[in-house]
Amino acid sequence: MFIGEKKIARPFRWGIVGGGRTSGVGYKHRLGAMRDNTSFELKAAAFDLDFARCVDFGKNLNMDEERLYPDYKTMFAEEAKREDGIEAVDIATPNFQHFEVCKAALEAGLHVICEKPLFFKVEEGEEIKALAEKMGKIVCVTYGFSGFDLLSQMRSMIQNGDIGEVTMVDLRYAHGFACDPTGDKQAEGQKWRVDPAKSGPSFVLGDLSTHTFYMSELVCPQLKLKQLLCDRQSFIKSRAPLEDNAYVLMRYENGAVGRMWASAVNAGDMSSQHIRIVGTKASLEWNDMHPDELYYEVQGKPRQTLVRAMDYLNPEALEYERLGALHYTGLIDSWSNLYTRFAIAMDAKNRGDEETLNSLVYPDLEHGIDGIRWVLKCVESADKGGVWVDFK
Ligand code: NAD
Repeated sequence: MFIGEKKIARPFRWGIVGGGRTSGVGYKHRLGAMRDNTSFELKAAAFDLDFARCVDFGKNLNMDEERLYPDYKTMFAEEAKREDGIEAVDIATPNFQHFEVCKAALEAGLHVICEKPLFFKVEEGEEIKALAEKMGKIVCVTYGFSGFDLLSQMRSMIQNGDIGEVTMVDLRYAHGFACDPTGDKQAEGQKWRVDPAKSGPSFVLGDLSTHTFYMSELVCPQLKLKQLLCDRQSFIKSRAPLEDNAYVLMRYENGAVGRMWASAVNAGDMSSQHIRIVGTKASLEWNDMHPDELYYEVQGKPRQTLVRAMDYLNPEALEYERLGALHYTGLIDSWSNLYTRFAIAMDAKNRGDEETLNSLVYPDLEHGIDGIRWVLKCVESADKGGVWVDFK
């Protein structure tokens, strides 16, 4: 189990490019990086194309205003002058800027964490690989769904031969959130996604299926993709040549086959990502709507549901497990919501703001006392032979 203690000597001083107030993904980066206060500390940012909004946002995150920058070039140059300058940077801008920012970051001597899809061309990837090697730096990609504990379980079970030889790989990242074409013109985070100059050569193949394709590489590292066949469509015609739906067939070197469905026009479906690996003896299946369950199906036997954090899992699935069994993924969001309200309550009390205190819903002293009373009254009722007792 992992309870957030440090795994490295000290946190990296870390900066962000993009990921500003209006961004879709910025908060996830900050939460992921800084949840434990032991891996990364956010010191500098060029959050936004709009500098005034960047400064306002950074100040709202209690950042040092001096270290909020109008653009990444200024940030890299100014931070390099400081003894306590950033050592790593996050790139959370629209796709077309990943390559130039990544290159500049490595040249500035920074480790890089970059959004997907990484770049537009394999040659760009090779250039960055050579530069990273030369500079002695790491480049990481935020395939953010791939850290679920049960994907590590899936990987170890496949490597241990629990399903036999892998024969079929069934992948799907298909939702319906781009069914309405008006979003292409109105929603900031959608406009660039359907513009080839900014999104790259694809829409859903890059935006969605890169995640799920990586998941297949993660759980089946032994499989090498040999050939693929793709059919892609723009059901919203104005998106052409960028696809909003695609089907891909795959052939692997060992004879295994696979398929991927990527879609943003799969109307009404909320379950998004599915991965099923079929072997000669059994299959494993996981989906991100129920991330705490892994389905293990041995031919001829009833389906087994393996649950996150249980002792019967392999060590790989427990190494980063943070919550303990019976405490499900998402529980920390609940704790965070409560702690935010606790802080608001304390602040309102300090300021004598009764209006806020009266409207804020959180478990306060009265609810704590109700809990004591509940226990005492239950005991009293039971000890009297199971009789009705007044609660108050
Ligand atoms: P968005 O359009 O919602 O937000 C982009 C942000 O970057 C905005 O704050 C914008 O002002 C800022 N920005 C743009 N150019 C900039 C520049 N040159 N310098 C500084 N800031 C700049 O986009 P988004 O949904 O947040 O997506 C951003 C990237 O993250 C994309 O590459 C996308 O594919 C990726 N993404 C990944 C995940 C994931 O799960 N890993 C999820 C969503 C998006």
